[in-house]
Amino acid sequence: MNAKSPIPVLWSETTLAHRPDREVWIGMPLDSSELPQRVTVIEQALRSAGHPFVEATAHTDAALRTVHAPELVRHLSTVYGAWVDGGFVDLGQDRVVPYFFPTAAMLGPIPPTDAGSVHATAGQFCYDTMTTVGPCSWEAIRASADCALTAADLVVSGQTRQAYALCRPPGHHVTRDAYGGSCYLNNAALATQALIEGGHEHVAVIDVDAHHGNGTAAIFYERPDVFYGSVHVDPGAGWFPHVVGHASETGSGAGAGTTVNLPLAPGSGDGAFLDGVRRLAGGVRQHGSTALVVSLGVDAAADDPESPLQVTLDGYAQAGACVLGDLDLPTVVVQEGGYHLPTLGRLVAAFLSASSITEAVSGVTPGSMGSQRPSVSFPPR
Ligand SMILES: [Zn+2]
Repeated sequence: MNAKSPIPVLWSETTLAHRPDREVWIGMPLDSSELPQRVTVIEQALRSAGHPFVEATAHTDAALRTVHAPELVRHLSTVYGAWVDGGFVDLGQDRVVPYFFPTAAMLGPIPPTDAGSVHATAGQFCYDTMTTVGPCSWEAIRASADCALTAADLVVSGQTRQAYALCRPPGHHVTRDAYGGSCYLNNAALATQALIEGGHEHVAVIDVDAHHGNGTAAIFYERPDVFYGSVHVDPGAGWFPHVVGHASETGSGAGAGTTVNLPLAPGSGDGAFLDGVRRLAGGVRQHGSTALVVSLGVDAAADDPESPLQVTLDGYAQAGACVLGDLDLPTVVVQEGGYHLPTLGRLVAAFLSASSITEAVSGVTPGSMGSQRPSVSFPPR
């Protein structure tokens, strides 16, 4: 298969099983926008565009531990059962929601013990109140990771040069040890590590989600073999992840110079976004990466409720042409954010169908998409 053919879609119906329903933001229960229908609308758009669908295969815990702490994997796989056993569902809370966060500032020099109770343990691993765990969440989280890992398997084995993983829930906010931002396991980081273990000595991640992928950045911050580049709304303007994602973060130690953050002002559109994507592609070439992972969030689109960026359908098509067509590396594309159900499917299709841009964007008036959001912190993606 060459890069211009519709690339295969790795997916699993099990990703639909995670139903966060609501998220707690500044103490307020809000309807969740990380809905199972996100998968359904993307699936419909990509089937219509002729992409072949491939069922994701199961991977072991060992595969998850190539990126994540064993304690995090164990916590995610067991926390809901412990929540039920602890009586919290009977109390009226049927989702795991942390209330206590033992931060480094709280602890000072005192080493913490295990919390010993699940309602306290939750905040040792989850860094916000929005990323809840429900009855079938773990199965979906795991299936989402399997989509990314299976995509990497296919690329490593040469069965396809490029593949798209229809991951849900998303993953780029998850660090080695902690989850948040509606993410639980870092699918992009797992794919990156799998490409390295499959023989690629230098791998790049380009993250075009509207929000900085703080988890992926942190995981690879000190690694010279992984380039991480992100274009995103400026966290300093009040957007998640708030305290990281700045241009001054360039990697450290052996990884000095391998992180590139390109924050955009709220309201930025195709011009600034595509300039950023092209600069990141230049960084990938300079790094000498022989394989690529794309964190494809389409929440920078003008209609998306979760960011103030104003990228159009044509903007996403051009971004896809740059990173899939021009770079033309063995590539795993991983789905991250994107929450406007009426346009979500065609935004993803436009990015992936870079070789048929004209067809992909016909009939759309980019200037009509959405209105600018105020620069305050909405629920993060
Ligand atoms: Zn996002």
